[in-house]
Amino acid sequence: MAIRRSTAKRHGLPTIVQLRLTPAPAQAEALTAAVLLCNQAATVVSRLAWQHRVFTVVELHRLAYYPVRAQVAGLGAQAAVRAIARVAGAYANRRASKKRAHIFRPHGAVPYDARLLSWNRDARTVSLWTPTGRVAVPYTGRPEDLKAVDGLPMGEADLICRRGVWLLQVAVTLPKPQTREPVGGFVGVDQGVANLAVTSDRVVLPGPALAGPVGSNGHVRTLRERRHRQRRRLQKTGTAAARRVLRRLAGREHRMMTDLNHQISKHVVREAERTGRGIALEDLQGIRGRVRAHRFQRRTLHSWAFAQQIAFTRYKAARAGVAFVLVDPAYTSQACPECGCVARANRPARGRFVCTGCGLAGHADHIAARNIATRGAAGWAAVNQPHATGHPSARRDRESKPPASTGGS
Ligand SMILES: [Zn+2]
Repeated sequence: MAIRRSTAKRHGLPTIVQLRLTPAPAQAEALTAAVLLCNQAATVVSRLAWQHRVFTVVELHRLAYYPVRAQVAGLGAQAAVRAIARVAGAYANRRASKKRAHIFRPHGAVPYDARLLSWNRDARTVSLWTPTGRVAVPYTGRPEDLKAVDGLPMGEADLICRRGVWLLQVAVTLPKPQTREPVGGFVGVDQGVANLAVTSDRVVLPGPALAGPVGSNGHVRTLRERRHRQRRRLQKTGTAAARRVLRRLAGREHRMMTDLNHQISKHVVREAERTGRGIALEDLQGIRGRVRAHRFQRRTLHSWAFAQQIAFTRYKAARAGVAFVLVDPAYTSQACPECGCVARANRPARGRFVCTGCGLAGHADHIAARNIATRGAAGWAAVNQPHATGHPSARRDRESKPPASTGGS
């Protein structure tokens, strides 16, 4: 049985804390100048990098440090160093294609490192570099975010002005809580297209009020179908304008799915935490190379969304100290959770499950979620029992059939 344990890093969980800055009018003016100047400097450095085909931070520093300081008046030494590192990072991450020089938007977010800002936690102010000198700006935020800022080591921060509101997004590392031993079994989550997620508790997510009978996920389906029709129409048009609209739609759909995945994972983790259970999802990586195409492979359109839901749930579970496992996806939709019978005939109609062995009937996604929950509990026990720990079959035997397949048919 394929089990992969949560791989969240042992040293902690990186996260972003958002603070709201409340600068006085003169301070806001200085911050605006800083943002414009830093982005201008980054674009200057980026053009130099591109012209000379120099993309590593050390070489770029040698090439661009003096030119950028000469060209961008008021840019300090530290801000110049930061601009160079930022450009090297942008090209390295392929956020900027090297086909043309990457241009930084004038009002885009500006990264501040430890040398460009300092904290006064007692006064709840942060001192930020600007071309006219440092400004100590008061900040506010959600109680848990303020607590994180007070107590945790902080990394780089992004300074952003969004619709007139100044924000500082700070990278912090949360200590990773101990994973609790699940006491009430596992919550299984079946991922799908019609119903984005159905749990072994019979909850359809995201659902109208996050809870409801199986099959009630109509609003999500309608939205996605409308998008799909829109896409098809535009693809037929094929003009440059249509391609632009398509790109925008793709972005919008991406954001919608990301938001839904956040809602789903949040609900699942909260529910598992509340009931002392672990969480099991199907392992999408294990399905490649199988003889028979798994249902996920027919859903390539949004395979990234399935992977994202796994990533979100894994992260939120780790943050809450909830056990998380991925299970072998083979036959989860054909196996009977009551008698163990595995058969294609158990699926007489789309979305329907009727066991040919014992007669158990139900919604196919819910049955699949129950199987996933059972496999999660079995897999967790196999890996976490003292004698089984390190046993090679617990982790490596990824192609073997699940225990449920022994029952017949
Ligand atoms: Zn059965």
